[in-house]
Amino acid sequence: MSNSPAKMQRRFPREAIQYGDKRIPAAKIECSKCGSVAYHPDTGLNDDDYFRKKGWRVGRGPAADVCSECQKRRPELKVVQMEQPQTPKVEPPREMGREDRRIITDKLDEVYDDKAGSYKAPWTDAAVGRDLGVPRAWVSEVREQFFGPEGGNPEFDAFIEQAAPIIAEMKNMANSLRIQSERFKELEPRISEIERMGRRIERELAAKRHSRPDWHRKRLQITSSRRTALATMPGLLAQLDGDTA
Ligand SMILES: [Zn+2]
Repeated sequence: MSNSPAKMQRRFPREAIQYGDKRIPAAKIECSKCGSVAYHPDTGLNDDDYFRKKGWRVGRGPAADVCSECQKRRPELKVVQMEQPQTPKVEPPREMGREDRRIITDKLDEVYDDKAGSYKAPWTDAAVGRDLGVPRAWVSEVREQFFGPEGGNPEFDAFIEQAAPIIAEMKNMANSLRIQSERFKELEPRISEIERMGRRIERELAAKRHSRPDWHRKRLQITSSRRTALATMPGLLAQLDGDTA
């Protein structure tokens, strides 16, 4: 309290004002917002206190003095001031800007067939939108305005025409594969059974091969003919000795 008068006391310009039939000196305050003025003739009060009592906000300097009317308007103004910087952050749906329009136009120049009055294959509004990463609606707007109708794509129509019976055939095939696969599931255990049988037969045949009687006999024949050969050898040698002698 002891500091505040010294701190807040301001020197206001003094002017002579008409007071009844006299002119008297008075301190003048001027609103920094609307320019309205008020005067403090000598009442014995501080100028600051007098003006505050009259509803003024007395600032540290003239630039911060505000009349009571402007103080009432102030909250309104403040809301407007606060909203403005927030607006761009809150606004999510982007408007098509000039640069967007230019990019879309460039792309349409490339993919739109002016003579045919339709897109070149396989382009569409949606495809251009996807390609550029912009909403399809922007593409439609620019195309409608500067190019022409989106148009059916004759090549694509031809493709669909040719593809339709093939697609139908493939569906039939898929369906019959499904039926066959169900039949296969029924057969599967029987196939395993047959495989097991096959392996068993193979094992049995192999076992028989190892104990084949004729194989044994052949071996005996070879052995005996070798013995015969060895037995006749001395006679042969003796004959050879006789010949050379
Ligand atoms: Zn004012």
